[in-house]
Formats: sequence, C-alpha cells, structure tokens
Amino acid sequence: MKTFKDIAGWQSTRALLSPSLKIGFVPTMGNLHSGHASLVTTAKNDNDLVVVSIFVNPTQFNQQSDFINYPKTLEADLDLLESLGTNYCLLPTPKQIYPDNYRYKICETKESLVLEGAKRPGHFDGVLTVVMRLFNLVKPHNAYFGEKDYQQYSLIRDMASAFFMDINIVMGETIRAPSKLALSSRNNRLDKKQLALAHQCAEIFHKTKSIDATKELLAAFDGIDIEYISDANNRRFIAYKIGDIRLIDNFLI
Ligand code: AMP
Repeated sequence: MKTFKDIAGWQSTRALLSPSLKIGFVPTMGNLHSGHASLVTTAKNDNDLVVVSIFVNPTQFNQQSDFINYPKTLEADLDLLESLGTNYCLLPTPKQIYPDNYRYKICETKESLVLEGAKRPGHFDGVLTVVMRLFNLVKPHNAYFGEKDYQQYSLIRDMASAFFMDINIVMGETIRAPSKLALSSRNNRLDKKQLALAHQCAEIFHKTKSIDATKELLAAFDGIDIEYISDANNRRFIAYKIGDIRLIDNFLI
C-alpha cells in the first residue's frame, strides 16, 4: 500500500493510472473498525484498485471539541488497510482539502435539513463538500458508503446524480455487534457501563415494533437522551446520546 500525505503526489500518481483500471474509493475519518473493513473488502472485490482516504473533516463537526477529540489510531488503521489489500491511502490535511478556507461549499436544500440535518446545522454541507472534493481528487468509478449513515449515503447518491458525476455510489450493509449495536468509532468513547447501555438500546430499537413503545422502553433507562426516533423512506432512524456521546442507527422497516 502506498500512502500519500501530499495531494500533489497523489494527483501525479492518479494521472498515470491506466483508464482501463476500475477504481474503488472508500472515504473514512479513520479509527477504523469492521464496518470500514467491510466497505474496503467490497471495494476490493468490485474494482482493480482501491483508494481509502483518512481525513477527519473539520467542516462537518458542529462542536470543535468533537473534532479535536475524534479518536486517532493511524498506525492500526494503516495496518488494517494494508491487510485488506488497499492500494492507496490518502492522508491529506485540512489546508490541502480546503485551500479556499471553505469559501465554496455544496449546499443541499431539502433532505439535508431533516433528521441529522435538523439536529446538526451545516453538517451535511460539510459532508457533501468534502466528498465532492475527494471525488475530484480520486476520480473513482465506484465509491462506497455505509448504510449506518443512510441519510449521508442517500444525499451523496443524489448529489452524484444531480451533478452528472460519473461515479457509482454503492451502499455497504451496517456491520453490528451481536446485540445489533452498529459498530462506530464513537463506541470507543463510551465507558464500560455506557457501552452496556448502548447494547441494550440497540436491542430495544431493533426489536420493538412501534416508535412510541421504543421511546417508552428507552425512557426507562437512566443516562439515555433520545434526540429522535422517526420513520422515513421505509426506514426507522434513531439518534440518542449516552453522556455526551451521540449515536445514530437506522434499519429498513
Ligand atoms: P466514518 O469514518 O465514520 O466517516 O465512516 C466512513 C464510512 O464507513 C461511512 O460511509 C460510514 O457510513 C461507514 N461506516 C461506519 N460505521 C459502519 C458500520 N458499522 N457498518 C458499515 N459501514 C460503516
């Protein structure tokens, strides 16, 4: 695996790749787990070359502290990517990705304002903008996103279509613990008691039929703050906090 800290170096390499090679791209923010690994494995199976980016994107965070405290495990991440057969790993800096200081952004005006977007103003502008910039740097044929962040996946899929981008947006299934808790970098920030609570929440969220019953069951626990449970596009979505750690999930109804 070749790693690039320098965008210009990557661009020279990309320019020399044969147009006949299919390129798969998995953008991440690092602190990789089996959910990321599953996307990379799918990309590996579908393409000739796999590019993974590790970039903690400052423009998609609502709280500076969340951005600063985002878990960083670069060495382990690179080992995992290497073991999965990743060909190129991009490690750009915010300055390289935002040479314009975020003067230009992608702004979606409808679906990005509900669910996560309603709770996190500007979040999806940051996500769509960084994905657009990374797409322009990587020029992939296929790009892979997790079902766990379904709203993010669907906004990126629709952006690619709206801007006539010649990129196939692929959704990878959510990888879960046996309790059905979705794997997430944020789980690492929960202490032992909080993690046990998160497993219980996940079981209830996935087992209970109605939204009202789910809310009632979850409300019985101390230390859980439900932001929303909502049905849309034949899916049930949840966002909740345990302490100051915010978790999301969704499933097809
Ligand atoms: P992140 O590093 O959190 O930005 O995630 C990078 C990609 O991995 C996104 O497309 C996520 O939706 C996806 N992802 C995160 N967690 C999971 C999971 N448990 N299962 C499948 N994909 C995931």
